[in-house]
Amino acid sequence: MPASSLAQETAEVLSRLGVADSAYTDGSLAVTSPITGERIAEVRENDAAGCELAVAAAEAAFRTWRLVPAPKRGELIRLFGLELRTAKADLGRLVTIEAGKIVSEGLGEVQEMIDICDFAVGLSRQLYGLTVATERPSHRMMETWHPLGVIGVISAFNFPVAVWSWNAAIALVCGDTVVWKPSEKTPLTALATQALFEKAAAKAGAPAGLSSVIVGGRTIGEALVDDTRIAAVSATGSTAMGRAVAPRLAARFARAILELGGNNGAIVAPSADLDLVVRGVAFAAIGTAGQRCTTLRRLFVHDSVYDSLLPRLRKAYASVTIGDPREAGTLVGPLIDKAAFDRMQEALKKARADGAIVHGGERVLEELGGNAFYVRPALVEISAQTEVVRTETFAPILYVMGYMDFDTVLEAHNAVPQGLSSSIFTNDLREAETFLSAKGSDCGIVNVNIGPSGAEIGGAFGGEKETGGGREAGSDAWKAYMRRATNTINYGRDLPLAQGVSFDV
Ligand code: NAD
Repeated sequence: MPASSLAQETAEVLSRLGVADSAYTDGSLAVTSPITGERIAEVRENDAAGCELAVAAAEAAFRTWRLVPAPKRGELIRLFGLELRTAKADLGRLVTIEAGKIVSEGLGEVQEMIDICDFAVGLSRQLYGLTVATERPSHRMMETWHPLGVIGVISAFNFPVAVWSWNAAIALVCGDTVVWKPSEKTPLTALATQALFEKAAAKAGAPAGLSSVIVGGRTIGEALVDDTRIAAVSATGSTAMGRAVAPRLAARFARAILELGGNNGAIVAPSADLDLVVRGVAFAAIGTAGQRCTTLRRLFVHDSVYDSLLPRLRKAYASVTIGDPREAGTLVGPLIDKAAFDRMQEALKKARADGAIVHGGERVLEELGGNAFYVRPALVEISAQTEVVRTETFAPILYVMGYMDFDTVLEAHNAVPQGLSSSIFTNDLREAETFLSAKGSDCGIVNVNIGPSGAEIGGAFGGEKETGGGREAGSDAWKAYMRRATNTINYGRDLPLAQGVSFDV
């Protein structure tokens, strides 16, 4: 492989992060950087036998790991968090190179990993069960939480490492072991994360096989999904992927944690603070080049503020710096690949056919590489939620629609198949509370006066409907990674039966 300067830099970063060069040279999986479209590595892929070995090792490790006291398991995650702190600059840089995120977002992704490690360390002393009132005298009833088993993690390209850490940090303190299949578009960051984890595991004296990476595409993902030794699979990606994975897991009664596509909306009410709206919408709709599951894709603007907001949004869109994500000042980096660009153009064509006015959306900066795809984010004025608006296109397209009546806009907001994230900009208490209420947004994330993207790890993350229903990260999401036992203990001399049943023999 001819060594471009980006390939050389990638190799240097990987070496500092502890990844052996045999893992990413002369392999069968070509990795390109979306920054220039150049090939930066050729990663060794795993076949079915490799998957089999990783799962066998994880299953063996589970037998000892489940017996280690949870706070001691937390110590491993504390040490892993320290490794991440030390390696933050390099791992963040690798996220930028491999996924095309701007520098602050690459670093932010690693910060999110550090944050979830801190959360998991605290959690390792708080895996509480309930004591439940029993109807029988001299009895006690309680819940205990036990490790579940091997957890398969399938992740998407756009959060190449943070999503794994939401799952792995929690699963490991819960006493589970993990096998990770990262996106085939971003295996390098996964290999680097694994190297950092192994350093921490060696320092902690943890058993081998607690966490491993298998590299490859759909086929190896399917092998993981079908492996009956895997108790739960956490799968992050498109709704199409979830539709393929969910029935396979259901067929063998495995637990599924599905984090799928979003089509996130925001409502701008008459009382909204428009300064806040412009900044909130710009970050949520344009940030990460529209490649977040929580990216704002549908904006409902009250007719009374439409004509004052739209010019301001157009100005913000025109002023945003698009370019090489490594450069200071760049706010919008590249799309992940040509397929993403083609899908964006197809969606804009459909929107035009539906009568929309499209501002932006064209390819720019072709000089950065024939195989690099930078676009001007698109602002699309459209009168109705046509099929294309109801579909997630993973690119920076914001559909803007006017509205007159609050109840009607609530209906429209919820009238899409996805249910991940949502927000309302309003200073009207009744509107804000209604949006948060049972008749309000039907999403898993519901915000007021901030955009739908950029969640913190402390809350449970995930969404409803075609987003899959899974919850990850904070709050009580840990319960999905453990099995619950209800225990009844009789400390008396009689044997009273529940519901007053008598059965004397
Ligand atoms: P994708 O669905 O193409 O791939 C995601 C992962 O699934 C990859 O690792 C891929 O190899 C694997 N995969 C695909 N088909 C599979 C199958 N049949 N069996 C097993 N594994 C399979 O998604 P992508 O393009 O990498 O990511 C973008 C999508 O992910 C968007 O739809 C976005 O909304 C979604 N996403 C959701 C969340 C969330 O938390 N809800 C977070 C990030 C991304």
